[in-house]
Amino acid sequence: MNAPAPRRKKGWMNLEVTRIVDETWDTKTFYLEDAVDKGCPFDYIAGQYLTLRFNDITERPVARSYTMSSSPSQAGFSALTIKRVEGGLVSNWMCDQLKVGDTVKALGPIGKFCFDPVKFRPHLVMLGAGSGVTPFVSMAREYADRLGTPGAPEKMTLLVAYRSKLDLICWDDLVVLNKVPGVSIITTLTREDARSEGFLHGRPDDAMFRELLKVTYGTSSYMTCGPEAMMNQFVDFLKAENIAPEDIHLESFGN
Ligand SMILES: Cc1cc2nc3c(=O)[nH]c(=O)nc-3n(C[C@H](O)[C@H](O)[C@H](O)COP(=O)(O)OP(=O)(O)OC[C@H]3O[C@@H](n4cnc5c(N)ncnc54)[C@H](O)[C@@H]3O)c2cc1C
Repeated sequence: MNAPAPRRKKGWMNLEVTRIVDETWDTKTFYLEDAVDKGCPFDYIAGQYLTLRFNDITERPVARSYTMSSSPSQAGFSALTIKRVEGGLVSNWMCDQLKVGDTVKALGPIGKFCFDPVKFRPHLVMLGAGSGVTPFVSMAREYADRLGTPGAPEKMTLLVAYRSKLDLICWDDLVVLNKVPGVSIITTLTREDARSEGFLHGRPDDAMFRELLKVTYGTSSYMTCGPEAMMNQFVDFLKAENIAPEDIHLESFGN
């Protein structure tokens, strides 16, 4: 990891929602600032998360973790991108009830699912799906314009799976980031065939991994975040291709 992120505020912070952006029909990005001092009251590394606590949604307090989709170099705010989980308590409450001007309690930043300039190889390869794209959006935002400089990867490849064109989370930024030399963002749609528009079609599978990633062997570290089955398949594939376990990193969003 980069140098440990120093904390400015300790313990539970009060963060005010300053802006809400509809990403897709079921996903929103919440921009947060310190409720008193404004700005972002903590330093973080791309890939880290906050734990939010809600005292009033149900009789008992509930806590959930959300990864920053913003990057540390985007000064003055942090942002969380939250996708509704069917039947889920907090994700639906946030998407339905949380308004600009409201305050949430947050603890963090927490987590080690981050690019490590010492331990990682120069090419960062990422596989995400659905809400599991958030750490990779943060990393792409953080490193794209300084690839090859100290503390950053030399190249980045992101393979991201969404269900359809209606589910393209953080899409506008991904399109822009994909144009940066050294950045390659490949999107596959699992439930819509839009190959004529440049998308791949189907769930990420071994054939897709082999086709896209064979050029990365020996120079890359691999990170994945998304459904358990997809992550397991990716890890099994990489191991079968003789990628060393220390070059493979996972983040599970299951609480
Ligand atoms: C490190 C980390 C980072 C994360 N980052 C993000 C992020 O950036 N963005 C994001 O969107 N999410 C993220 N998550 C996931 C997030 O923390 C929550 O797990 C997610 O929002 C679901 O919470 P929920 O309260 O809505 O669902 P829950 O109420 O916890 O429900 C979870 C599951 O249980 C089922 N369920 C709920 N109630 C019942 C019931 N009564 N009977 C049967 N089944 C039930 C739901 O259908 C759902 O499938 C992250 C998780 C971790 C651990």
